[in-house]
Amino acid sequence: MQYFQGKSVYKGIVMGPVAVLKKNDYQVKRARIEDPEAEVKRVKEAVEVSKKQLGRLYDKAVREVGEASAAIFEVHQMMLEDEDYLESMENMIRIELVNAEYAAAATGDNFAEMFAAMDDEYMKARSADVKDISERLVRNLSGEGDNDLSSMEPSIIVADDLSPSETVQMDKEKILAFVTVHGSTNSHTAILARMMKIPALIGVPMDLNGLKTGMTAVVDGFSGQVIFEPEEDVQKETEKRMQEEAEKQKLLEELKGKENVTPDGRKINIYANIGSVGDLGYVMENDAGGIGLFRSEFLYLGRNDFPTEEEQFQAYKQAVQTMAGKKVIIRTLDIGADKQVDYFNLGKEENPALGYRAIRICLKQPEIFKAQLRALFRAAVYGNLSVMYPMITSTEEVEKIYAIVAEVEEELKKQEVQYKIPEQGIMIETPAAVMISDRLAEMVDFFSIGTNDLTQYTLAIDRQNEQLDDFYNPHHEAVLRMIRMVVENAHKCGKWAGICGELGADLTLTEQFVRMGVDELSVAPSMILKLRKIVREMKAEE
Ligand code: PEP
Ligand code: MG
Repeated sequence: MQYFQGKSVYKGIVMGPVAVLKKNDYQVKRARIEDPEAEVKRVKEAVEVSKKQLGRLYDKAVREVGEASAAIFEVHQMMLEDEDYLESMENMIRIELVNAEYAAAATGDNFAEMFAAMDDEYMKARSADVKDISERLVRNLSGEGDNDLSSMEPSIIVADDLSPSETVQMDKEKILAFVTVHGSTNSHTAILARMMKIPALIGVPMDLNGLKTGMTAVVDGFSGQVIFEPEEDVQKETEKRMQEEAEKQKLLEELKGKENVTPDGRKINIYANIGSVGDLGYVMENDAGGIGLFRSEFLYLGRNDFPTEEEQFQAYKQAVQTMAGKKVIIRTLDIGADKQVDYFNLGKEENPALGYRAIRICLKQPEIFKAQLRALFRAAVYGNLSVMYPMITSTEEVEKIYAIVAEVEEELKKQEVQYKIPEQGIMIETPAAVMISDRLAEMVDFFSIGTNDLTQYTLAIDRQNEQLDDFYNPHHEAVLRMIRMVVENAHKCGKWAGICGELGADLTLTEQFVRMGVDELSVAPSMILKLRKIVREMKAEE
């Protein structure tokens, strides 16, 4: 039995088998070989294994995100059949007498460079694909296996760290818990864990080399402990606690269908935050009144090229149709900072959180923004859709957005495409936006306060820096005063204001938020009934 203590990002308890995910970041070593034909045979076998894995990934992606997004895995399969690529590896082995891993890695690098240097934007983007398939080959050659979890049983994912694009590709049905060595409590992986109501621990000082896929573990999100190979008494105790938790959850379920209203009559909207249409099930299951934050950038993550207008339209349409008249607030893409996407070619920045991200990208590269706006306005015809813009700092930005919106509307009208200009709001997540919220309120339909970034920018603390978790204090008086100010300024203009950052789900602040007059709390679906319980038992007037 081995114990490790980490930081919990979702309270829950689970026991199950472990799946250790190792990153493919080791250096491929060049070795001289005696038998080139045996190495060539290894390459051929690895190519076959890789093609099978890609076939499985394709099937899974078709089921989950549709054919258009899945097509990339077919492209990868075709690349693995490319004669130039295969010959290049074989020649290198035969002429230079090098090992298969080295030949695969070096050929991948050469081809990726060649694609990157091309003028055609489409061909340039293939560079990332070549790298991806070469890494897959190297993984298979070195016995690291596939990071594809589709064939595993539901497991506790143990990893060094997980990026948003890695988690977005995971089959959520198969995840019992997350346990990572790194990561911060405000990372998107932590947000995903809360969405899925699964225990998650970060900052766990474990050595992945000492752990094996298949071993049993207990993840206790209440104490922040993970126990590998638990003894029998621990297993029994865990089973008992899992049962108790399930019973508590059942009691919460009785609140489904009930209103979010205090006994003295104050109502509040309790909505859900989601990252993709795949999360709609959680929204329905937890009886959300609407969707307060659809993080649309997740449509852009974990792929090699921009989602088309049509793909986006289908996703947004599905969301509004599923919600059948309930409000769905879709945030325009918030790429940058921790959400990196290769094909955006954002380059390296000294301070990415203060860098080229979110609305700044949209205003500088309006062609990307316009495709998304077209998809949103077309989908707005099918239900109760609102749009909100992230990372606003000035009234000029809002004016520029409206100018682009007007151009998009003009185009749609000319093309006689069905559309609707929906309600438009902004996220308040910079201190600048807070300070001018009186003026911004006159320009927009609503505010949604992004406390994750607002805390980061107010306290000058990088939300991704795990060393600063102890200093990251969203309860800081400065943050709470800002929230009050934003709500008051919105109300003076007859507009509504909600909170969609993680603080909205902080049960110790729910009463305070209701009393401040916050109109909407948008939270991980798993928190909706817990908030409803507090609202229904508190007094709005003290
Ligand atoms: C926020 O900043 O609070 C927010 C909701 O946006 P994100 O966490 O996606 O940056
Ligand atoms: Mg934000």
